[in-house]
Amino acid sequence: MDTVLYFSVLLLTAVRPMYSAPRIVDLSHQQDDNAVSWPVNPPYNFTKLHRGFYAPFNIWLENNHIAMPEHMGTHVDAPVHTFKGTWRTHQIPIEKLYGPGVIINVKAKVESNPDYRVSTDDLLKYEEKYGEIPRHSVVIMNSGWTQKYLNNTLVWGTMQLLDSSTFHFPSWHEEAVTWLINKRQVNAIGVDTPSTDYGQSKTLPCHLIMGKNNVVGIENVANLDNIPESGSTIYVPVIKIYDGSGGPARLFGTYDDDPDKTNAASTATSSMFYTCFFIIPLIIKF
Ligand SMILES: [Zn+2]
Repeated sequence: MDTVLYFSVLLLTAVRPMYSAPRIVDLSHQQDDNAVSWPVNPPYNFTKLHRGFYAPFNIWLENNHIAMPEHMGTHVDAPVHTFKGTWRTHQIPIEKLYGPGVIINVKAKVESNPDYRVSTDDLLKYEEKYGEIPRHSVVIMNSGWTQKYLNNTLVWGTMQLLDSSTFHFPSWHEEAVTWLINKRQVNAIGVDTPSTDYGQSKTLPCHLIMGKNNVVGIENVANLDNIPESGSTIYVPVIKIYDGSGGPARLFGTYDDDPDKTNAASTATSSMFYTCFFIIPLIIKF
């Protein structure tokens, strides 16, 4: 019996698949009354239609009505948002709503300058580290702004929320956006702040360039510290609103853990799995 057990363990160890954990990261903030919205927008409205026992079917039933601005919380800007004649929300091809994830970390620069704009130089530095930005990428600025998310004064960088000339938050420089579109043919460009143009912008050049080129915008992205700067796939599943200019999205990213990074915990878990399902039955049988 000892010999059978020994060879069983040896065999199982040999055929045990490499440990590789697919990871998924939620990149969206929750939609509710507090979700960030351009201050002049009407409020989010969530109304309970029914919450309780529903006699006709003899079941518990919950059913609500929501009304909200398209551009609220984690959301997409359809190209038509700022450029006439381009795609409305329902017209954005599904293949434009995902791609290799590229996270541009500018947290250190933003700390000393809330009006920072991501530059072409930042993109070239990223490429030095991770290689060329793939075609059809979803490129998102990580400025660290997600930490401020539920505080409107911090998010907009002002106490005067109804005066947009007082806004201070980072975003993209139009030269970097042009470079990403012309040189790397990206699918989407996003930010963890409220706009793909920085707070002090008066003319929204990034919005105009992205709109004109049918490139999708993404605003108020969350959890960017929890996804690798390179090597993920990011999905931008915006609600398919007919004739819309954008819409809320449950943004998420996926990536595979490097098998070489197998840690003690995962090894212990898989050993327990094999002990329970293979070794113990063998012992019982013999
Ligand atoms: Zn928007």
